[in-house]
Amino acid sequence: MASHILGNKTITDRILCSWIRCRRKAWLDQNENNRKKVWSAHRALQLDHQHKSLEGFLKNSPQKGIEGLKKGAREVVGVRLKGLTALGLNIEGHPLLLQRIKGKSFWGEFSYIPITVRQGHRITRENRLSLAFWGYLIEQFQKFEVKYGLAISKVNNDLKVEKIIFTKKIKTELLDSLERINQDISKEDPPALTSDRKKCTLCSWKELCDEKANQEGDLSEVNGIGAKRKNILQEVGISNLNELASTNPIDLSKKLSNYGEAHEKVAAQLINQARVQINLVPKQLGEWIILPELKFAKGVLIYDIESDPDAKHDFLHGFLLLRRRDNGEWSLDDAKYKPILNIENNNEKAVWNKLKHRLKAFQDLPVLHYGQTELLSFYKLAKRQGESEKEIKMMTVNFIDIHARLKGGWLLPLSNYSLKNVAQWLNFKWTYKGSNGARALLWWRQWKRSVKIRNQKSNKLDWILKYNQDDCIATWKIADWLLNNK
Ligand code: SF4
Repeated sequence: MASHILGNKTITDRILCSWIRCRRKAWLDQNENNRKKVWSAHRALQLDHQHKSLEGFLKNSPQKGIEGLKKGAREVVGVRLKGLTALGLNIEGHPLLLQRIKGKSFWGEFSYIPITVRQGHRITRENRLSLAFWGYLIEQFQKFEVKYGLAISKVNNDLKVEKIIFTKKIKTELLDSLERINQDISKEDPPALTSDRKKCTLCSWKELCDEKANQEGDLSEVNGIGAKRKNILQEVGISNLNELASTNPIDLSKKLSNYGEAHEKVAAQLINQARVQINLVPKQLGEWIILPELKFAKGVLIYDIESDPDAKHDFLHGFLLLRRRDNGEWSLDDAKYKPILNIENNNEKAVWNKLKHRLKAFQDLPVLHYGQTELLSFYKLAKRQGESEKEIKMMTVNFIDIHARLKGGWLLPLSNYSLKNVAQWLNFKWTYKGSNGARALLWWRQWKRSVKIRNQKSNKLDWILKYNQDDCIATWKIADWLLNNK
């Protein structure tokens, strides 16, 4: 049944940005109860980066509001602009920063352009369209054309400023988008869940949407089904978890062969995964021993890295040393946490020497890690330090990716096999409720700002160490489960 139309609403810059990320998000922002949102560290990280970039860009304090524009101040913040599109849609924006340039405006021989902060390494559609949106509003206000805007970003001490020209194509894309947003947010029912559910990790509506996906048995809830595979399954007539679980593997394999070998090969696995998620009983994929290296090991070293990806800075290499008891038992009571901190990131040689020394001291022990990050980061660091392939191979020969072993050996009743998800399924609880990688990164940036820049006390570094130690313990909990469920 077609949705009812609720009537025209004002489209703000926030709604535009939400819509670009996910059409459903824009609808929820506009129409759903905000209390159902959950706090996300990603938003706080964005604001932190925004703050740092503006601090780096501005030479003097900006002036505030419309008065600042009228006076021709060099930079102005806190301006709220309202306007109309050519088709009569109400729009409203709160530009992050406006900068005066030479030109003409309603007030005299100067004009204003909008400035945004770029997150990540590339200019996104969100950057382009939000700048064009602000440009469109400023034009209406200053009565003269705005030809471009700036996207700025400061990482470490490097401030980047990029010019975005408002081409005819961008302007058309903006106006088309505003029309489509108006249609979407005016409907009585929200648009469907995004097909790329990876985006949901960063979204404050995640809990609400997870609940819906779960209720509906959405295919994206099945581990191994991303946006592309979900579309393919729908094309071959499978629309939910139950339908997938009751499909014949040979039939599905035949149907998926039209979409390439990779899809054809996983048909049976997807069906089994769906069945496990319905039955809530884990299923072992074979009789082999998943962690043979631990059979006679005298102990293990568990390795987990914390990083600031924007600054390309691995600031913590955490190790948990667990020695096996003489009677062959493993106990976390015997574990010792041994972190290596890389606070400044200006003496990689020293960090590398410590890491090498640590691995050499425990060279007879398997090194457990969860996912590829640790091995990849270690490899890159070793290369930067001039180690040969042969040396690196020798140093990493004992590394064991617990995530890969788990996925190769078991199907679990879980929609994803992330460390948090699997360890929580095994009843492990992190010391700080709701902690995750993004929150640890936020603590790190806040700690740096308060201690290094403002010389204030902060216990956030202790929180990060505790969080990292918990990640190591969680990795062990999963390895231990694999050992006990062979
Ligand atoms: S959680 Fe996912 S589907 Fe829901 S609004 Fe956010 S991005 Fe869209």
